[in-house]
Amino acid sequence: MLIVMENADEAEKEKVKSVLPEESEVIEYSASRSVIVAEEEQIRDDYSQDLSERLSSYPAVEKIIHVSEPYQLTSKKLKPKGSVIDVDGVKIGGGETVVMAGPCSVEGEEQLLETARAVKEAGAEILRGGAYKPRTSPYSFQGLGEEGLELLSLARKETGLKIVTELMDIKHRELVAEHADIIQIGSRNMKNYSLLESLGDLDKPVMLKRGMASSVRDWLLAAEYIMAHGNHRVMLCERGIKTFGEETRYTMDLSSIPLVKEKSHLPVIADPSHGTGRWKLVLPMARAAVACGADGLLVEVHPRPDQALSDGPQSLKPEKFRRLMEDVADLNQLGGAGAQLQKAAGVSS
Ligand code: PEP
Ligand code: MN
Repeated sequence: MLIVMENADEAEKEKVKSVLPEESEVIEYSASRSVIVAEEEQIRDDYSQDLSERLSSYPAVEKIIHVSEPYQLTSKKLKPKGSVIDVDGVKIGGGETVVMAGPCSVEGEEQLLETARAVKEAGAEILRGGAYKPRTSPYSFQGLGEEGLELLSLARKETGLKIVTELMDIKHRELVAEHADIIQIGSRNMKNYSLLESLGDLDKPVMLKRGMASSVRDWLLAAEYIMAHGNHRVMLCERGIKTFGEETRYTMDLSSIPLVKEKSHLPVIADPSHGTGRWKLVLPMARAAVACGADGLLVEVHPRPDQALSDGPQSLKPEKFRRLMEDVADLNQLGGAGAQLQKAAGVSS
């Protein structure tokens, strides 16, 4: 249950809290708006109706939203029109497909700047690149760390692109936030709840990738952690899930895109690079993701994929990426953005 309060003072919030289960939390949603989250399951059915009537009579209570699912702040019911996340002027969730592109790892100045210039020219608005890399083998390239972050800042300065990069460890929180415009939480850390909680008081949008073996429910609850701790600028990223197939690295779960958009107001980005692990499949999956209503794409691009220090087989060369951008532009023109295609298909409200 969400109790939305407008211009409520402390005493008014306390008055509401006093009739709710002890664990209920007050979230400051905006300057004038507070939301009190109470777990519906903890309120007895026969009491719930009485409680709603009683709370509705309090002057600062604007509305009461009953949410039957366990996710509350991520629920579509809180914002039926969907959230738009403004990353210093780049709007994610606003109807246009926003493209984030760049190398899997930042490998050096020349590699990063060459890629940044190419993706910018093709029309991307956000540069991706990992400085801290979650690698399966401890002997694989682990990323350039702080030097990589500084190179990302240099690329932003030269191209004007916004930066998305991964935070793996709480100890790098401030450092990564200093260089990133969007903080990426990778698939392996989707359930690292202390890391998620630590993002609550950061003034940076977060892109939360889906755990490779996580349900949509667990993914939304992970987003709920970040939001419940005070950071409401969260977007999700579908990056494929582990299935039995060996032909692709992961299985790109396109169905999660309209599913999440039905349940949640958070924007959804699709990552066909990790979702397939094969550069040849990136373009068709990108097209499909836009048609499914994705608000943006995350695409790995490398000028020389055969020499990449990570994820070369799934990286597009700049000329292939240009083709992808032309296709995305065509799709956007055809039916408006993915969100509109989705609307036409009767998926969204
Ligand atoms: C990445 O974006 O390079 C990455 C490591 O992604 P994921 O966490 O989805 O594997
Ligand atoms: Mn990668």
